[in-house]
Amino acid sequence: MSDSAPTPESSRRGLILINTGPGKGKTTAALGTAFRAAGNGMRVLFLQFLKGSWHYGELDAAQALNAALTPALGTALTPDPSPPSAPPAQHFVIKQLGRGFVKVGGAETDPEDIRLVEEAWAESAAAILSGEWDLVVLDEINYAIGYKMLDPDAVADVLRRKPEMVHVILTGRNAHPLLIELADTVTEMREVKHAYQKGILAQRGIEF
Ligand code: ATP
Ligand code: MG
Repeated sequence: MSDSAPTPESSRRGLILINTGPGKGKTTAALGTAFRAAGNGMRVLFLQFLKGSWHYGELDAAQALNAALTPALGTALTPDPSPPSAPPAQHFVIKQLGRGFVKVGGAETDPEDIRLVEEAWAESAAAILSGEWDLVVLDEINYAIGYKMLDPDAVADVLRRKPEMVHVILTGRNAHPLLIELADTVTEMREVKHAYQKGILAQRGIEF
């Protein structure tokens, strides 16, 4: 920021943010924050729940940015004869967990989807608690909770125990009241209009 002093170290703290509501922009706002954090040298892990069947442009952008920010991942001009045994700390990682949007309705939900969400949650909780990432995004996690595939109490428990400096963003419609209560910043996207209502299908670069 150019118009105010940088945040003093003593007042730095990790926030819990929620992007919810029916309007467009929940995931893309989280991506924007992730981009901003990466530019500040922060390590960003962006975990996408319930996605996996589409190829999103952000996956390629993240890979390019990660390689640029993590020199050991970039194309080395002279190959290092003695590569380090530990992998380099990565800076901007987006991972798709799950296999695309699932059917709504507790009883009809495929047990395989529930298993994938449980696995995704285990990975998310470990990443948040590890302190290895400065920002962890749980994209579409609100849907997994809304479809009763994930217990909001378990999510709240991990958020309460997270390392102090770690930021967490949760996205998806119908955020659970317990998580809204726990969050520091909650934004509800309101739909004014959406191209979809005119029959315009998802556009490359805007929707995926
Ligand atoms: P985006 O990824 O574009 O930021 P989002 O995260 O707010 O969208 P989701 O609920 O995750 O929205 O839905 C993902 C897809 O649904 C996107 O392709 C998005 O454009 C589309 N979408 C979002 N809001 C609406 C809406 N109000 N009507 C129709 N389609 C929508
Ligand atoms: Mg989304």
